[in-house]
Amino acid sequence: MADCIFCKIIAGEIPGRKIYEDGEILAFHDVNPQAPVHFLVIPKKHIPSVMDGADPGLLGKLLFKAQELAVQEGCGEKGGRFVINCKEDGGQTVDHLHVHALGGRPLDWPPG
Ligand code: 5GP
Ligand code: ZN
Repeated sequence: MADCIFCKIIAGEIPGRKIYEDGEILAFHDVNPQAPVHFLVIPKKHIPSVMDGADPGLLGKLLFKAQELAVQEGCGEKGGRFVINCKEDGGQTVDHLHVHALGGRPLDWPPG
């Protein structure tokens, strides 16, 4: 999608610190990390949000890859958090489905 910043990272038009890539999925470090480990896992297909037509298989792959990479990034022992912000009430700011993976410090709950 032309104006989507994550589609531009997928296309290599703007830089992203990539962690993992396959035919369907890309993972890269968040540009404004909220924890020592903070990366995003996204589908290569432009899907605006988790409520906009992602199929069950793809959603499973995104979450499975997020936890696998979180272990790789050193969060296996202490854990972390996997977050999907969705639309206005969820505080989604980039309208391309993404799973946040956060870890490396204790994380507050509940969110504000
Ligand atoms: P949201 O608020 O939509 O759940 O999260 C969007 C995330 O994308 C934010 O954590 C933000 O820091 C990250 N982000 C926005 N623009 C860029 C970018 O150009 N590159 C990278 N790596 N992350 C970005
Ligand atoms: Zn996109």
